[in-house]
Amino acid sequence: MKQNTVLTTTMRTHTCGELRVGHTGQTVILCGWIQSIRNLGGMTFIDLRDRYGITQLAFNGETQPDLCKQVSDYGREWVLRATGTVTERYNKNPKNPTGDIEIIAEKIEVLSVSDVPPFTIENDSDGGDDLRARYRYLDLRREIVKNNLLFRHHIAIEVRKYMNDLGFVEIETPFLVKSTPEGARDFVVPSRVSRGDFYALPQSPQTFKQLLMLAGYDRYFQIVKCFRDEDLRADRQPEFTQIDCEMAFVTQEDILQTFEGLVKHIFKVIKGIDIAPIERVTYADAMKYYGNDKPDTRFDMRFTELTDLLQHRDFTVFKQAEWIGGIVATGCGNYSRKQLDELTDFVRKPQVGAAGLVYLLCLPDGKIKSSVDKFYAQEDLQHVATRCGAKPGDLILILSGKTEKTRTQLSQLRLEMGQRLGLRAAGTYKLLWVVDFPLLEWDEETGRYYAKHHPFTAPKPEQEQELETAPETVNANAYDLVINGTEIGGGSIRISNRELQERMFRVLGFSNEEARKQFGFLLNAFRYGAPPHGGIAFGLDRLCAVLSDAESIRDFIAFPKNNAARDMMLDSPSSISNEQLKELGIMLTS
Ligand code: ASP
Repeated sequence: MKQNTVLTTTMRTHTCGELRVGHTGQTVILCGWIQSIRNLGGMTFIDLRDRYGITQLAFNGETQPDLCKQVSDYGREWVLRATGTVTERYNKNPKNPTGDIEIIAEKIEVLSVSDVPPFTIENDSDGGDDLRARYRYLDLRREIVKNNLLFRHHIAIEVRKYMNDLGFVEIETPFLVKSTPEGARDFVVPSRVSRGDFYALPQSPQTFKQLLMLAGYDRYFQIVKCFRDEDLRADRQPEFTQIDCEMAFVTQEDILQTFEGLVKHIFKVIKGIDIAPIERVTYADAMKYYGNDKPDTRFDMRFTELTDLLQHRDFTVFKQAEWIGGIVATGCGNYSRKQLDELTDFVRKPQVGAAGLVYLLCLPDGKIKSSVDKFYAQEDLQHVATRCGAKPGDLILILSGKTEKTRTQLSQLRLEMGQRLGLRAAGTYKLLWVVDFPLLEWDEETGRYYAKHHPFTAPKPEQEQELETAPETVNANAYDLVINGTEIGGGSIRISNRELQERMFRVLGFSNEEARKQFGFLLNAFRYGAPPHGGIAFGLDRLCAVLSDAESIRDFIAFPKNNAARDMMLDSPSSISNEQLKELGIMLTS
């Protein structure tokens, strides 16, 4: 907030965060909530709080007995209007920016009384998650929650300024749209006027922003709500906010450069951090070296593939494995039995799901002690250490099994080791572009291809011919921005040609008729001059959380849902009346 912003209104002269020794002697009027009341011998003190801070009001029992009596039965969270004189304090409180002064109160008006709040309005509140969610408006009074919302506001404003300076136009797109079978599940909204029909809430403004490109608005952005009815997972919100962007007449390189600029700007103004040019890794390499398409690159610990090195002995576990890979935990060669058992327990947890863990302790004398000494000669183990680049004093951890599954498990172990070794410290930021995603992904269960990003993503031009003949080999100019192992944004170069879009729908298993029914508007639009275009969307909630080193995106949403997708305050979702159902033409069975 600008320093010279005038907050004086007819009800108050200053805020509770504003007064300093320089104001001594002034008569002021403050409004706010009672944070606390203390009666200390002859003096009564009230800490009055508003959005801007806390100021102490003082009442002298000897000289102001009536006022003292008046406030004696006030309670926490009452709303007061206090008139008084700013006075320098004897006992200053260096922890509070207004702690050098207090207000010798002259007149107190009660603007509103309050029940005793169900939890303390303090950073270290005594209220549990559920209780605070139910009384979110009280939770929002807590300083840490307030600071999170202001932090979010600051980021959003900076995004708007930056985008505006680059000629991007913020355009709103509708919330009542059409349900489509692709992607996550839709939230649907029954139409009363068109009985039996439904709108859907948008999972993203994807097709609208593409139509805007077609319409000539070559730089679009929008800070926009998106809705996805996904299965419950920790830290997912059914409605969340994207910084949604699209550009026409661009290549992938233009998009990466433009949005690298935006992200750097945010880091600079919000955190004061200069971000180095963002490294890039292909999807294939991310999977090969980290087992993960959003690797945390604050630390290295890359995978080394060992399949060919370890299948020549009689160790059936390895012999039968499709893939064997290892990581090196530097300096952990002295791990105790107990520590190694802990790691084995970790990989065996159902969330990880490995059958077991093989370890090689590289001893200071150059020898190697392993959990598979029975099967492998010292020489075999030395080969493994050499390939992994392990030195005496290091620990090699090895998992084996089906390729994809094992890579995922080793990725989890890598993150766990990074955590244990303090390599994922808060306050360090490693940004990464993951590029060249595959266009499609095969789903065993349904026996069909799905778009890895979305059905509007273009195949790499040089691979277009293989779309039907070898779909699984086709890559896309699709990219994700990853910060510290969290996906913060993703986008792609789009299909801007009717025929190619129709081919893509066919590969995805749509009949021509289905494609026309679902996406006819887009296919038709492509008849009328579609420029090449591409874009990206960033998760604003997630960006706030990552920049704050916070665990949960919920902390940055004013009125979030809980992990069961419920709004505890509204008690929603909830049933609606039979009359409403009837009006909407909806019949509930059982
Ligand atoms: N609409 C995409 C999404 O929501 C982002 C993009 O491709 O721009 O993930």
